[in-house]
Amino acid sequence: MERLTDKIAALPPDANYFSLEFFPPKTQMGFANIQARLERMAHSLRPLFVTVTWGAGGSTATRSLELAEVCQRQLNLTTCLHLTCTNMSRALVDKALEEAKVLGIRNILALRGDPPRSEEYNMHGEDDSNKEFMYAVDLVKYIRKQHGDYFCVGVAAYPEGHPTDSYQEAQDPMRDLPYLVEKVKAGADFIMTQLTYDLDAYMKFEQLLRNHESGTFKSIPIIPGLMPIHSYKILTRVTKLSHVNIPQPILDSMEHLKYDDDSVKQAGVDIITNIVEGIKKTPSPGPRGFHFYTLNLEKTVSFILENCNLIPPYTEDSDGEDTSAIATSTMDAIPKDGQPRAFTRRRASSINSLPHNRVIVDRAQLHQAGSNESSKDSATHEAPATSAGMPAMPPDRSTTLQISEGLGALGREATWDDFPNGRWGDARSPAFGEIDGYGPSLHVSAAVARKVWGHPVSHEDINTLFRRHVSGELYIVPWSEGGAEEATGGLNPETKVIRPELLKLIDGRGWWTLASQPAVNGVRSDHPIFGWGPQGEGFVFQKPFVEFFCPSKDYKSILKPIFEKYDHEQFAWFAVNESGEFESSLPAQPADADTIEMNPDNVNAVTWGVFRGKEIVTPTIIEEVSFRAWGEEAYRIWDEWRRVFPRGSPTERLLDSTKKDVWLVCVVGQQFGAGTEPESKEEEDETKLLWRVLAGEQ
Ligand SMILES: Cc1cc2nc3c(=O)[nH]c(=O)nc-3n(C[C@H](O)[C@H](O)[C@H](O)COP(=O)(O)OP(=O)(O)OC[C@H]3O[C@@H](n4cnc5c(N)ncnc54)[C@H](O)[C@@H]3O)c2cc1C
Repeated sequence: MERLTDKIAALPPDANYFSLEFFPPKTQMGFANIQARLERMAHSLRPLFVTVTWGAGGSTATRSLELAEVCQRQLNLTTCLHLTCTNMSRALVDKALEEAKVLGIRNILALRGDPPRSEEYNMHGEDDSNKEFMYAVDLVKYIRKQHGDYFCVGVAAYPEGHPTDSYQEAQDPMRDLPYLVEKVKAGADFIMTQLTYDLDAYMKFEQLLRNHESGTFKSIPIIPGLMPIHSYKILTRVTKLSHVNIPQPILDSMEHLKYDDDSVKQAGVDIITNIVEGIKKTPSPGPRGFHFYTLNLEKTVSFILENCNLIPPYTEDSDGEDTSAIATSTMDAIPKDGQPRAFTRRRASSINSLPHNRVIVDRAQLHQAGSNESSKDSATHEAPATSAGMPAMPPDRSTTLQISEGLGALGREATWDDFPNGRWGDARSPAFGEIDGYGPSLHVSAAVARKVWGHPVSHEDINTLFRRHVSGELYIVPWSEGGAEEATGGLNPETKVIRPELLKLIDGRGWWTLASQPAVNGVRSDHPIFGWGPQGEGFVFQKPFVEFFCPSKDYKSILKPIFEKYDHEQFAWFAVNESGEFESSLPAQPADADTIEMNPDNVNAVTWGVFRGKEIVTPTIIEEVSFRAWGEEAYRIWDEWRRVFPRGSPTERLLDSTKKDVWLVCVVGQQFGAGTEPESKEEEDETKLLWRVLAGEQ
C-alpha cells in the first residue's frame, strides 16, 4: 500500500498520524550522513510517510530524486515527491514522474514553484515546452492526463493566505480559495498546508474548507504543516520568508530566551505540542495528520512527536521491511487518548543491529507515557556520554526518547542539531546550507527585485547597492539570507561595529561584501552585541572574517600579493570563480574529500564559546567544502538576479559579464587579540590587522 491516501484510509477514523519532510542535502557528506539519520528516524519515529522537496525550477532535480530513492527503495518508506512545474522544461517534469514511477513512488505533491518567467528561465530560447504550466492546477491536470490514477496527488494550501506575486495586496485565504477548489476538482487527493504557528488561523481555515458550499473539502485529508523551532533567528527568518504570522504570545515567550538556543528549542517543543494538541481536539472527518518540516534535523521533531504521543508503537510489521508499520496495520494507530489501541510485541530492536542506530536514552524518567507535561524543565538536548555506550534496549515509550548518535563521533551530530546555522554550520550535516529548502533564490519576487535594486548598468551602480546596504539604508541585497525586516535595515548589530571597515572595502576598493564579523577577544555570553549561549555562564570569542566579490584583476594584482606576504597563520583564505577555479591558503583537499571526513586542520572555527560544565562549542566554522558549496550557490544567485531582466538588456548583460569576471573570496584573520591586554594598542593592532591590510592601509 504505497498511495498515502490508502494508508490514511486504512487507519481507524480517530487515529493520528504524521509525516516528515526532508530536503536533499547540499554536500556529498551531508547526503551520506542523512541516510543514517533517515534510517534512525524511520525506525524510531515511524512516520506514515515522508516527503522530499524539489528545488524551484528543478534546481535540485537529481539530488531530490536520489533522496527520494533512498527513502522509498532503501528504507522502504512511503515517499511523496514534491514537484514544481514553473521555470523548467516539460521534459524535466516528465522525467521526474517517470523516474518516480520506476522507484515505486506513488505520491506527488504538485506545486507551482516560483511565479512563471518563461521568457527568462529559458536563456537560449529553444524550449518553450512549459508554457502551459502557470499554476499548480496545470500540473495536477497534466499528471492526471499523463498518468491517470497511478499517482496520489497532493496540493498546497495556505491557512494565512498565499502572498500575491507583487506582494502589494494583503494575504487572504479567501482569495486563494477558488483556485484550491480548482486544484481539488482537477484531481488532488490530499491537501498539505504551509507551516503555521497560529492555531486559531489554522482552525478557522480548516473550518472554511470543510464547510465550503461546494462540498469539495468535506472529506479530503487536510494535513497541517508545522515547523519545529530550532532557534529564534530561524523562527523569525522562516516565518518572514513564508509570510506567516508568529502570534504575539509566542513571540513574547521567545523574545527573552532568544540568545540561548537550548531554551528556545525547549520552549519551542511546548509551543508545537500545544498546537498539535489543539488541532487534535477538534473534530475531523477522518484520521488526523500532521506534517513536520524537519529542516533535516532530528532531535526537536523527535521531542515533539514523543510529547504529542504521535509515535506509533512497534509492531510485528515494523520488524519487517516496511518500517512505517502504521501503514499496514490498523492496530498500530495511536488513538486520540494517546494509549496504544493494541499492544504488540516489543521488538528486540533492530536499532541494535546497526551501530549507527544505537538508541540514546536521553530523557529517562522525564516523561511518563501520555504525559504532556512541559518539556521545559526536563528535556535535555545533549545525550550524556554514558548513554551512547548503553546497551541498546527495547524502545519503551514510557521511559525513553529514541534519538541516536553518529558512529564513533559522540556529540558531533548533537552539534549539527544544536547549531543548524545554515551555511556557516558543519558541511557534514544533512541540514547544512538550507533553511527554506527550495534551492538558491533571491528571496523576493522579480517585481520586488526590480523595485529594490533597480536596473544597474555599471559597476558603480552595484557598488551603490552594497554601500546602501552596509549603511543600513537597504535591507537586502541579492545574496542576503532574506527574512530581514525592512525597518531594521537588515544588518545585525555586530556588522554595524565594523561598518567603517566594510565601507572602505566597498568605496575604496569596489569589493562587494556578503558576510563578515569583527574580532571578539572573549566577552561575557550576555554581552548585548556579541553574546550567545547560556546567559552569564561563559565567554564567547570570534575571529574576524569577511567574504566579498572582487573583480578578477583585483584578485590577481591586489589580493594575491597580500596573501603571499601574510601566510596562513595570519590570514586563512579561500577563493572561487564562476568556472569553479578554486584557490586557498591551505593544501588542496583530495579529489574525493567531500565523501570523507573533513581534515580537522582545515576546519577553521571562527566563533566559539566556553561555558560552565560544557565542552567548547563552535557554532560557526569556515572550511573548504562548505565554501565551495556556497560558492556554487552564490554564482547561481547572479543568474537568478539577471533573469529578472529581459534577455539582452543592459542590466542583464552587465550582471552576466560581472558574474563571469568576479572572484568570491573569504578571508579569516587568524588573530583575535588572544593574550593581549584588553583595550590595549596591541589588542587593537591584532584585531584590526585584517581590515587595515585589505583596505591597503598597512
Ligand atoms: C506544503 C508545501 C510544500 C512546498 N514544497 C515546495 C518545494 O518542494 N519546492 C518549491 O520550490 N516550493 C515549494 N513550496 C512553495 C510553493 O511552490 C510556493 O508557495 C508557490 O509560490 C505556490 O505554489 P502553489 O502550488 O500553492 O501554487 P498555486 O496553487 O498555483 O497558487 C499560487 C498563487 O497563484 C494563485 N492562483 C492559483 N491559480 C490561479 C489562477 N488560475 N488564476 C489566478 N491566480 C491563481 C493562488 O491564489 C496563489 O496566490 C511548497 C509549499 C507548501 C505549502
